[in-house]
Amino acid sequence: MIDDIIVRKAGGNVKKLLIVFLILFFITGCKQEKQFETVIIKTKVIKQQQNGIVEKQGEKVKPIIQEPVDELQVVGNNRLIVIDAGHQRYGNNAPEPIGPGAIETKAKVTSGATGVVTGNLESQINLEVALKLKGRLEKCGYQVIMVRTSQDVDMSNSERAKIANENKADAFIRLHCNSDDVFSTRGILTIAPSNTNRFCSQISDASQLLSKCVLDNICQATGAKDRGVMISDNMSGINWCQVPVTIVEMGFISNPEEDRLLSDGGYQDKIVTGIIKGINEFIN
Ligand SMILES: [Zn+2]
Repeated sequence: MIDDIIVRKAGGNVKKLLIVFLILFFITGCKQEKQFETVIIKTKVIKQQQNGIVEKQGEKVKPIIQEPVDELQVVGNNRLIVIDAGHQRYGNNAPEPIGPGAIETKAKVTSGATGVVTGNLESQINLEVALKLKGRLEKCGYQVIMVRTSQDVDMSNSERAKIANENKADAFIRLHCNSDDVFSTRGILTIAPSNTNRFCSQISDASQLLSKCVLDNICQATGAKDRGVMISDNMSGINWCQVPVTIVEMGFISNPEEDRLLSDGGYQDKIVTGIIKGINEFIN
């Protein structure tokens, strides 16, 4: 019996040892497996880096998260915003005076710039942003009149201004993309008339304030470089206006990075957020 007990005890110890061994084996095994996984991941990354396709692989792995569009205050109170998506598919080079009664003339309307890397038309980008702006302004309680909703129109800059004037717009937003011979030039600016503008000095203060509010908020919303409010009395698009107006140059389509951004739906949403916050500030 005693021997038997010793044997059993010994057997029990062997079992315990076996269990401990098995536990250790599994733990170590698991660890080794994890280490192996890690090595595989690292190897993949190195290979991707060597092949120069890290970003593409990363995009595949990452879930696509749609950035939520900013909630905006409903403070429109039925006030009227007229939106002009600058340019049109084909320009019209026939001359028109640069302001009421002016001798100097400019082309009625040009076709606009073209994206340096995307090849996208400025007129198309302006229209895309304009349509987004319309939808979200209406959600904020504004009335909106669109100068155009198609690429295939023929409307001069003075005719566009007349739409805003005749409807007595509370603000007239003219959307454009900028262009420069230097690829590195970037950033956003707005344009307003001076206080001594011979055609529309009566709207200069309001237009400068509108331009400042819109510019500040777009730059905040997008993080783009702030190029300030440009004062110009040489723009038909401004000189024909009798209501507060701003020309918004949303970015440089001649800059590769900004060109891509201007055709990016998420970035366009940020621009729209900025414009509406600016209008809210101007009107209230
Ligand atoms: Zn333009």
